[in-house]
Amino acid sequence: MAPAPVRNTPPLPPRVEIHVHLEGTVTLPRLRTLWDRPGRDASLPSDPASLYRHRSFSEFLQHFAQVTRIIRGPEDLALITSDLCRSLKRQGVAAAEVFFSPVIFMRRGIPFMEMLDAMDEAVLWERARGGPTMAWILDGVRQWGPRGLETHLECAARAPGRILGIGIGGDERSVPASQFKSHFAQARSMGLRTVAHAGEFDGPRSVWEALEVLGAERIGHGIRSCEDPELLALLRRRKVPLEVCPTSNLRTRVVACWNDHPIARLISAGVRVTVNSDDPALFRTSLSTEFRVLRYRLGLGTAQVRKIEREGIRASFLPAAVKRELLRSFRRLREKGRRGKERAKGQEWR
Ligand SMILES: [Zn+2]
Repeated sequence: MAPAPVRNTPPLPPRVEIHVHLEGTVTLPRLRTLWDRPGRDASLPSDPASLYRHRSFSEFLQHFAQVTRIIRGPEDLALITSDLCRSLKRQGVAAAEVFFSPVIFMRRGIPFMEMLDAMDEAVLWERARGGPTMAWILDGVRQWGPRGLETHLECAARAPGRILGIGIGGDERSVPASQFKSHFAQARSMGLRTVAHAGEFDGPRSVWEALEVLGAERIGHGIRSCEDPELLALLRRRKVPLEVCPTSNLRTRVVACWNDHPIARLISAGVRVTVNSDDPALFRTSLSTEFRVLRYRLGLGTAQVRKIEREGIRASFLPAAVKRELLRSFRRLREKGRRGKERAKGQEWR
């Protein structure tokens, strides 16, 4: 039988993903390969597929924690990192800033440097095969209090130049931001970038604190900022990017339906909006799906979607020269794609 012809797919305009949790990228097929090993935690449900459907935000947090209990060590993290690199490559993602919470695994005795070495090695292997660059943001678990952030700062100090920044996620209403203020200040003095989940489940107050108390450079989600005009004005004035994750908001019931999602209001308020996948496997989405959601569920026009794609590049912590190069390449390939489409339309009418 003759071999199938090789199709040359044109290169995709580059995208950047700036809000994705490594632990939330474990796909169901990957989880199944890790599931049936001796010594599995007896408290886990019998069906791994049940971890991918959530009735509430607290149930999602529970599922997230259960997935992390299946990850046993550096080898598993290397596999998951490789899976993520390949998935991002297929979606045209050139660079990703990825959350990872080592404190979860260190509590079970897994050494941080072994995890980081395995993950970085996986990234290098995939980079050599056209995969994206990947930078790690150590994400603290808010409900565990300041000790976790201290551990993350110690981790970053032990791996100079290998950690991009620190963040805080989890249950926004559990521990006040003031308890993490000194950790964020210390991170800055170490040259780390700082981000914070806020205004997802909690209201505008949480975003105010992330900005004024923690000094976060970007806000994870931040969608409830639209409830406070003064806060919107501050975000606009300071040009703080929001890392909006629409499908995540729907799956965790932060919004009841697509019509309730405030992304269009944030855009018209002049706030910098980026779009990201958050926990793509656990929310059954991807960055590409999120951009389709903008068009077909949230009613944004092509120009608005393109602007958000570019904003993802601009809001990243990549060096300025890399951003310029990515933006140039984005414009060139989008323009090429547009001309290609117009040509195809022209031929249809002949
Ligand atoms: Zn998140």
